Amino acid sequence: MPAFPASDTFFTRRLAAKGNPLLIAGPCSAETEAQVLATARGLQALGNIDLFRAGIWKPRTRPGSFEGMGSVALPWLQRVKAETGLPTATEVATPRHVEEALHHGIDVLWIGARTTVNPFAVQELADALAGTGAPVMVKNPVNPDVALWAGALERLERAGISNLAAIHRGFSTFAPSRYRNAPTWMLPIELKTRFPHIPLLCDPSHIGGRRDLLLPIAQKALDLDYDGLMIETHPDPDHALSDAEQQVTPQRLGEILSELKYRYRSS
Ligand code: PEP
Ligand code: MN
Repeated sequence: MPAFPASDTFFTRRLAAKGNPLLIAGPCSAETEAQVLATARGLQALGNIDLFRAGIWKPRTRPGSFEGMGSVALPWLQRVKAETGLPTATEVATPRHVEEALHHGIDVLWIGARTTVNPFAVQELADALAGTGAPVMVKNPVNPDVALWAGALERLERAGISNLAAIHRGFSTFAPSRYRNAPTWMLPIELKTRFPHIPLLCDPSHIGGRRDLLLPIAQKALDLDYDGLMIETHPDPDHALSDAEQQVTPQRLGEILSELKYRYRSS
């Protein structure tokens, strides 16, 4: 089990308590209160999920796609925590998002792939997050540039934010690929050698873009000693308003998790 001797964060505490992988699950987007709560109850029943994710402000590549419910969905996440005890996470892209999410008791924030590419935006987020103590997860930038990913982590660290995790969600590529975003496994491994104190998580949903690729990608991540997984889950994946092809029901997630071969297991 990899250890994080120098750090005591939301992520490392959970890893120390239960062993890896840290498990994050929830819908790509919060759509309705009923959908969010149904997902959370299904995940709670699995008994091993560490953090509930749901996107509220969705940075879609093209206009006209579902761009998220916005602030109206924040109380839905509060209800998830009140009813299931699961801590919650959402994506933030502006200082206003940070302020609103923290005001509504969201436990963990993440910076998405389309924001990590922009040093101005990352710096604004770092300034807004400074002193809040909020745990932050940083997805890799959409393009295969490990320096931008490292630079975002450095901006946060320089703002005094040490409660960090990195998420590998794959990289855009021109080359034909079976993946939605090519994993290019050597890039996150390079990041890990530069930031050994920061847990590295894998997002098989956005790498694969397809349900049938979740298991092999997650297995590869575990074989490479990743510290956790983030997998999108929805009670009715085919009708999801975003990323329908890659989401799975909480029940299917449970099957995937039981099919994985774990190198380190606390029990
Ligand atoms: C997401 O997690 O739903 C998302 C938008 O991911 P990414 O920033 O990796 O594209
Ligand atoms: Mn998504």
